[in-house]
Amino acid sequence: MPNRLSSPAFYRSHPELFLNLGSCLAVLAIVAIVSYLLGRERESVEQSAVRAANNIVQLIESDILRNVELYDRSLKGLIWAVSRPELTRLPQPLRQRLLFNDALVDHQRGDVLWLDKQGNVVGDSSSAVPRQANFAETGDFQAHLNDPRLGLLVGPPFKARLGDLDWCISFSRRIDDAHGNFAGLAAGALRLSYFSELFKRLDIGADSSINLLNVNGQLLAREPAPAQDAAVGASYAQRPNFRRILSQTEGSFTARSSVTQRQKMYTFARVGDLPLVVLVINSSDEVFQSWRRTAILVSVATGVLCIGIVWLTLLLGRELRRRHHAEQGLVALAATDSLTGLANRRQLDQVLRLEWARAQRNRQPLAVLMVDVDHFKAFNQRHGHAGGDKALHNVARTLGRCIRRPADLAARYGGEEFQVVLPETGLAGARVLAEKIRAEVAALTPFEGDSQGITVSVGIGVFTPGTQHDLTQLLSAADEALYRAKANGRDRVEGPLD
Ligand code: GH3
Ligand code: MG
Ligand code: MG
Repeated sequence: MPNRLSSPAFYRSHPELFLNLGSCLAVLAIVAIVSYLLGRERESVEQSAVRAANNIVQLIESDILRNVELYDRSLKGLIWAVSRPELTRLPQPLRQRLLFNDALVDHQRGDVLWLDKQGNVVGDSSSAVPRQANFAETGDFQAHLNDPRLGLLVGPPFKARLGDLDWCISFSRRIDDAHGNFAGLAAGALRLSYFSELFKRLDIGADSSINLLNVNGQLLAREPAPAQDAAVGASYAQRPNFRRILSQTEGSFTARSSVTQRQKMYTFARVGDLPLVVLVINSSDEVFQSWRRTAILVSVATGVLCIGIVWLTLLLGRELRRRHHAEQGLVALAATDSLTGLANRRQLDQVLRLEWARAQRNRQPLAVLMVDVDHFKAFNQRHGHAGGDKALHNVARTLGRCIRRPADLAARYGGEEFQVVLPETGLAGARVLAEKIRAEVAALTPFEGDSQGITVSVGIGVFTPGTQHDLTQLLSAADEALYRAKANGRDRVEGPLD
């Protein structure tokens, strides 16, 4: 079968099939290539967006780490200073400077406090006379009181009790006395507005946000600012996306927002060893906006191109069909005798050669009937040439009616002579058919006003395998038999002589 499919003959006989197949393949290839390119372009857009978001996350992380480091140093400086016995002997301004190093403590960012072991403020970075407050009940204080090994503790967000009541987070370290007993706390508050200012300086796109959360899922800062102030401190702990973020130290993923139900790209990282997470959220719509426009444009153009190809294929197919029919018509015309509608001499010769070769090869008999109309010259004289033509046509139709097998062929040999080729037919079968032809022609209704009908004489030639070797001999035998039929009185069938 594959050989048949690839053969030129198969191609020539099924041009439309190949045309349709070719254009289908072309359309599929175009669609596949365009889809692949668009997919790759989308991937590269996504990668660029992740890279940009990642850079922002890294930048913020390092800034926060640097600030926390400064805070921690100021807390350590405070702890070192309060352990010096000379401290109480120093004058107040000097003591204040020693406790709260100006180089490290930035009042804009937040205050640093020294709490004694009862939780009372005994040193205050923002005022020489410490503000009156007690922090003994706070979580941080209790945590340090109960656990001496906490080190630097980052607390949850809270509204400052002193000063201008901003949202802050606390950093605190425990102060031990000479015997390792709890002696108080060095605590710093960092205004969360500091992060908002930091985020504002970065350009991230209209529909995106930069967020800072602690590992408990509380929002510490966001840019653009959340709609209500209440959003600072709000808990995201139960959101599936936040849980996914917590399960890794850094990374990126795309998921549906549980609030807006829109597709978002989340890029995040833990801030060093601190319980803080920086999170950049990009809107997928925004990231892929330009790509989507290109994809629509390219898809429409590809669609138009494919429709064009299909349309041209249909046109070409119709044209091929038309040409094929015309060619077949011409072939049929070239093989047909125009007067009788039977095969003409040309086709007869072809079929004879073919069947002769086949009979030789298959060692099968082949019979040929020579049919000649009797006294046709006289008939022509009685009815004119037009009448003669009509009679020939009637004889031809009778011949066509008599042969049944697909391989049989009736042809006009010339003038009022016909030949019938009967493959795989022996003398007996040929005689039956010849007799049938003779009888049916004789039974045709005579022309009006003519007492004589038309008759034919038939000569049979038969090739029996192993007896004759030549097609000419076969035809001569049929011819001779026809002469004998004529000589023996016409309207009769004669076979070969024994
Ligand atoms: P026989 O019985 O011996 O065959 O006698 P015949 O008259 O049929 O034989 P002959 O060969 O003498 O004459 C054949 C005639 O057939 C001659 C010609 O006028 C006529 N004829 C041949 N072709 C055509 C044709 O296409 N149309 C018509 N009308 N007549 C034709
Ligand atoms: Mg004749
Ligand atoms: Mg004749």
